[in-house]
Amino acid sequence: MHQIGVVGAGQMGTGISQVCMLSGFDIVLLDREPEILTRAKASLEKALDKLIAKKAIREDERAAALNRVRLTSDLKDISSCDLVIEAATENESVKHSIFRQLCSIMKPDAILATNTSSIPITRLAAATDRPEKFIGIHFMNPVPVIQLVELIRGIATDDSTYESAKEFIAKLGKTSTVSEDFPAFIVNRILLPMINEAIYTLYEGVGSVESIDTAMRLGANHPMGPLQLADFIGLDTCLSIMQVLHEGLADSKYRPCPLLVKYVEAGWLGRKTKRGFYDYRGENPVPTR
Ligand code: NAD
Repeated sequence: MHQIGVVGAGQMGTGISQVCMLSGFDIVLLDREPEILTRAKASLEKALDKLIAKKAIREDERAAALNRVRLTSDLKDISSCDLVIEAATENESVKHSIFRQLCSIMKPDAILATNTSSIPITRLAAATDRPEKFIGIHFMNPVPVIQLVELIRGIATDDSTYESAKEFIAKLGKTSTVSEDFPAFIVNRILLPMINEAIYTLYEGVGSVESIDTAMRLGANHPMGPLQLADFIGLDTCLSIMQVLHEGLADSKYRPCPLLVKYVEAGWLGRKTKRGFYDYRGENPVPTR
């Protein structure tokens, strides 16, 4: 594998491109919005500048990495890639349309991958001309920081596709785990019910925001409290993952906490809207309950 295509230059696509560039892969980064490509370029440059300031890379490595990325809004520019990682908006019809177009232009042996957090890999694969060469490569946010990448095999994914994906992740200096294609895979299947339970603990008045977060930081040695983490992930994202678990596994233990629904309805989505379980508008975060 030499040339990697990344479709979607949002938060995840940009992070994925950054780690690939720095590991020596040639990248074609595509988005349908030209202004998003401009923003992605600026954000890659800024990220590399920070690495220089930390003495993690040298000036010549920065220049070489930036030389390896090509930004485009023309899907044809991706046709020669050996692997395409789709990191576009979490919407099944958007992803189907991207894969349909990719199938008509990619080499027959090119691997197609998706970074989806919640859409079944098998269902996306079934709509392509190569379900055996289709795999979930689930990077986590922020991509340059998180060590783990979950690989998700669809029902038809063949061994050589899985092995190639595993080798690719190792070349990025990251660790992969393999998961079967069930709702929320492994990390979110375990993490989100814990966060949801923390919100129930708040909802039922068992503890305040501060006591719940302190309890889990100091009592369970978690680096961040669950409500602090929920604000970081985004409460809308937390709710949508709980809904995927609830609908996909049809078990009432995954029922999203009504208080989580309420925060999302209020538009208090966490750090990105400056208010969630904490208020971030001042100098220090202040609990909102
Ligand atoms: P984002 O909204 O930041 O970026 C999505 C990008 O896709 C946008 O720039 C949009 O212009 C582009 N796009 C939409 N339709 C397109 C098309 N037809 N062709 C080309 N580009 C198109 O989203 P994100 O947070 O980067 O998430 C991307 C994917 O990664 C989603 O599937 C999401 O579930 C998954 N994911 C996100 C996170 C996270 O924490 N944000 C973590 C893991 C996985």
